[in-house]
Amino acid sequence: MDYDVIIIGTGLGGLVCGALLAQRGLRVVIFEEKAKVGGCCTSFTRKGFTFDLSVQSIGGCREGGRVWRLLEELGLQEGIEFLPLDPAREYYFPDLKVCQYADLSSHVEYLSSLFPHEGQGINELYQLYHSISEEIDRLPHTLSWFDPSRFAREFPVAFQYRKKTLQELLDAFIKDPRLKVILGVRSSYALLPPSRLSVIAMASLEMSYLQGGVAVVKGRMEALPQLLANGLNRWGGMIQTRQEVKGIIVERKEAVGVRLREGEVVTSKVVVSNADATTTFLKMIGEEYLPPGWVRRLKGMKPSYSYFILYLGVEGELDLSCSNNEVFPRYDFEEEYRHLDGGRIPPSPPYYLLAPSLVNPCHAPKENNTLCLSYKAPYRLSGGWNAEVKRALAERIISQAEEIVPDLRQRIILQVSSTPLTIERMTGNGWGAAYGWAQIPQQAGIYRLNRVSPIDRLYLAGHWTAPGGGVAAAMASGEITADLIWDRLTEEG
Ligand SMILES: Cc1cc2nc3c(=O)[nH]c(=O)nc-3n(C[C@H](O)[C@H](O)[C@H](O)COP(=O)(O)OP(=O)(O)OC[C@H]3O[C@@H](n4cnc5c(N)ncnc54)[C@H](O)[C@@H]3O)c2cc1C
Repeated sequence: MDYDVIIIGTGLGGLVCGALLAQRGLRVVIFEEKAKVGGCCTSFTRKGFTFDLSVQSIGGCREGGRVWRLLEELGLQEGIEFLPLDPAREYYFPDLKVCQYADLSSHVEYLSSLFPHEGQGINELYQLYHSISEEIDRLPHTLSWFDPSRFAREFPVAFQYRKKTLQELLDAFIKDPRLKVILGVRSSYALLPPSRLSVIAMASLEMSYLQGGVAVVKGRMEALPQLLANGLNRWGGMIQTRQEVKGIIVERKEAVGVRLREGEVVTSKVVVSNADATTTFLKMIGEEYLPPGWVRRLKGMKPSYSYFILYLGVEGELDLSCSNNEVFPRYDFEEEYRHLDGGRIPPSPPYYLLAPSLVNPCHAPKENNTLCLSYKAPYRLSGGWNAEVKRALAERIISQAEEIVPDLRQRIILQVSSTPLTIERMTGNGWGAAYGWAQIPQQAGIYRLNRVSPIDRLYLAGHWTAPGGGVAAAMASGEITADLIWDRLTEEG
């Protein structure tokens, strides 16, 4: 046996899982296909401008938050600095600018001051989010997904809302249609309209920001995966980059190791996949090794949407009160998704405007700045993703952004665009899915793909399994999977 644990992929889920197990003394190796560790959390530099490939903000970074606690457990929190975002974000609606404050009481107070007649509903809504997310955080790693009676008994609020959508919740607590839209705004981050977003997912999202603390990494985002990789190495774990795993070797229904690109076989007591779940099961293993009903379910699952992103290096200062902004041309979330479902980006879509260098000045040369403009995007764009489409979308989003950054077009020094195909290529996530599976009720909470797979000794970690998408959740999943493996291997001696 070469190793105790083989992990496929150095996304944050894989790195956290590997670092925790190496720290406890297990022999861990991680194989990473790309040259760099970090998956979605890498960064790149062009002409002196630095951009984080994806992440705009991370929840759970304040003392006591999930990310902070994990780094503390690993003894690594001194190695990184988080820059808090407060306000976390500003949302532009046609006649109103709304702030997302960084702590729960200020946010609830602020919303209640905008809509005093709805104060009670707003309070009750956030209390409910708090109860759900508190229960979800307490779910033990030993909880069997197939034991609904224990779930109902010990986690009654999460159980009650497990099949509900955000829209159902908003309709139950709030009357004012405009406030419903404003309270549903964070669904945009999950790339789903309130009518499809799971309440469980929304509660975790809201609370990981409002209670866990929202921040960005000081410097480059990739400092976080690098910190975890250094920890893993310090505890004797190994990372091999540019090493694609081609297959997972299954003998007598158990994972016993992996086959690398050149055919080399490496064996271990358990295998963890942090890679895309569909690739893991259908390409690295093969349908013939899996229960047919389970394969049908996997094939029917829906990935999250992706992004078209324009990374810009711009000349001069930016007159913005907040680094993270999102602009909604109308009080309606549904229309955008009707277009996305049809493989189109709407004519005048909502968009994100991030100014990372306002928080991290080192991202741009002196007296210049960085901007990241993005649209939500389908993987299969009708007509396909080609240079002309990218050029037209870039033009459109720059024109829209000029409402907030005047003369933007003339100030652009550097322009790089990225589509769902780019994201798929850079991260290995099929469909360029930004958050693994879409967080609809059927794929969130206990209904998300189980980290214990139908192949014995094969586990999942990362955003394709529970708790869900995003940095804090991917890290939490790595922790839960590490605990499961630790229990099993120590039991086996
Ligand atoms: C554009 C964008 C914006 C986002 N914004 C935010 C945000 O603001 N806040 C937030 O919290 N989250 C955000 N996310 C989501 C977040 O980045 C992800 O949910 C999270 O980082 C996923 O981590 P993971 O552990 O699942 O692994 P991933 O980051 O998906 O990494 C998987 C790794 O596995 C490797 N791999 C795959 N196949 C193989 C193979 N065969 N052999 C070896 N290695 C392999 C890949 O190369 C990759 O390194 C965003 C994502 C995107 C794409």
